[in-house]
Amino acid sequence: MTLKLGVIGTGAIGQEHIRRCTKVLQGATVVAVSDINVEGARAALSRLGLQAEVYADGHDVIKSSDVDALLITSWDPTHEEYTLAAIAAGKPVFCEKPLAMTAAGCRRVVDAEIKFGKRLVQVGFMRPYDTGYRALKKVITDGTIGEPLMLHCAHRNPAVPESYTTDMAITSTLIHELDVLRWLTNDDYKTVQVVFPRVTSKSHSRLKDPQIVLFETQKGIRIDVEIFVNCAYGYDIQCEVVGEEGVARLPEPSAVQMRRSAQLSTSILTDWKDRFIDAYDVELQAFINDVSKGSLTGPSAWDGYAASVAADACLKAQNSGAIEQVELPPRPAFYDKA
Ligand code: NAP
Repeated sequence: MTLKLGVIGTGAIGQEHIRRCTKVLQGATVVAVSDINVEGARAALSRLGLQAEVYADGHDVIKSSDVDALLITSWDPTHEEYTLAAIAAGKPVFCEKPLAMTAAGCRRVVDAEIKFGKRLVQVGFMRPYDTGYRALKKVITDGTIGEPLMLHCAHRNPAVPESYTTDMAITSTLIHELDVLRWLTNDDYKTVQVVFPRVTSKSHSRLKDPQIVLFETQKGIRIDVEIFVNCAYGYDIQCEVVGEEGVARLPEPSAVQMRRSAQLSTSILTDWKDRFIDAYDVELQAFINDVSKGSLTGPSAWDGYAASVAADACLKAQNSGAIEQVELPPRPAFYDKA
């Protein structure tokens, strides 16, 4: 059976997800879309050579009897409202990160899903679907490097626009590490501190760049994450896990090694879309397959909530300079892995 998807938000990632669901992946088609810019939505479909119902209001996509499941790719402040409406309609929903603008908003989604009585929400955290992160997770889970003691991570972008501010280093950038590092270590954060080194001359007045975020987890693992969004040289994601018996690193994306002009070199990616292109395919194929099987297994509403609770503590730590507590309540049994 082909899963009929409705997509709310036809901006950059909305168009990418429509393309992959209709031209790359198996088992799904897009039957309805909406965007606040209706003409933009029509133009996006036309560029992709697709026909689908176009609605001005996302709620009409959710209500459509033709739509089996939803992809929410509209701008951040609309995610909670549309996800809650999808749950109320009893339809599975893939919601791009963040699940909501605040931890309280994410909690409302968690509570609505538990009340409904069945998992309906997958959050668009794609890194657990990345081949490199999966290989790293396997080494940790197998016990090959012993118990993890420390993680050294970096999230570097070549440059960001003037509209990118200090807090967005947490809410737009670190949010992916907040999810994937919980998943990698099978642990939750206990405390966080944010340290600001010397500011790069490439930044602007509303952005302190770089930043170093220091976590202690419940098991006592120490994690440092460098966020450097004007690093100039490329889009570079690093993760090194130091265990009791060895060290494991996230593999570099594959690139041709060259010997030329007395130099040994490999190129570095510059665009996040290229770095995780395969992971996006795998995460959405998993959503399509899981919906068809009737049970979701990807990043849950609880994972969206946990990342948001940690993000709130990071924002507090940015402002206070102090070590702040990450107060995540116990996970409801509803979200225990099957
Ligand atoms: P974008 O290009 O600005 O697209 C957002 C789209 O949503 C725009 O077309 C916008 O229209 C539309 N929109 C705004 N309000 C709406 C509403 N009330 N109902 C329906 N559509 C509405 O941004 P993007 O880069 O695609 O990001 C979209 C979402 O995906 C964001 O939440 C972002 O955080 C997330 N994202 C996730 C990843 C990831 O790695 N997982 C990567 C990129 C983005 P206008 O342009 O007319 O305002």
